[in-house]
Amino acid sequence: MPHPPLIGITNPPPDRKVGYLKNYSDAVGKAGGVAVTLPWPFAPGQADLLVERLDGILLPGGHDVDPTYYDEAPHPQLGSIDADHDAAEIALARATLAARKPLFCICRGMQVLNVALGGSLYQDLAAQYPGALNHDQDDYLLTPHTIDVVSGSRLHAILGATSLAVNSLHHQAVCRISERLVVTARAPDGIVEAVEIPDQPFALAVQYHPEALVDGDPLALLLFTAFVQSCR
Ligand code: MN
Repeated sequence: MPHPPLIGITNPPPDRKVGYLKNYSDAVGKAGGVAVTLPWPFAPGQADLLVERLDGILLPGGHDVDPTYYDEAPHPQLGSIDADHDAAEIALARATLAARKPLFCICRGMQVLNVALGGSLYQDLAAQYPGALNHDQDDYLLTPHTIDVVSGSRLHAILGATSLAVNSLHHQAVCRISERLVVTARAPDGIVEAVEIPDQPFALAVQYHPEALVDGDPLALLLFTAFVQSCR
């Protein structure tokens, strides 16, 4: 038997509630990988070394990203930010792509990916996106809105579906999309819910939280299975 792939998962700042990462590492385990929780924070200069030793990287949910990365002043509704965490995750996203290793980004992770590649964010959807649905729910097990998946995308190939109901626990979202990213799913209000990089072996990001749904939703587990397979 070959060794299962080792998947590095960044660790949010310590004020996150205890156990926050367990859903992510459990989902990686269900998909056949072994999760390796990275220290908070690690030095951005260590990103290349970490990527070299790991088989894939997962960027999970977490805080807001510092808007100075996309040349904006903080909006009054901006949540808490953490400079060390931003710097570490941005370096890790870039290093993973440079090494062409698999990268799976969830919620904040998708926002970090977009910012790392030159994109921007809505700092607060309720304040900055008229007509937005309530994306800022507090229950990981509720699926309050659907997403429409772009036919022919990697996401479509993995899920085998063009519409699905998802959970939604975010008050930010990607705004100006990096020119390196392709949008692969949107909510009914137009908010981007998934992006990918077609010319990478596996570089996929979703705004929702499949790690919280893997027990009851086969489509959620399919995302992790596809990611871990690509890490072998
Ligand atoms: Mn949403």
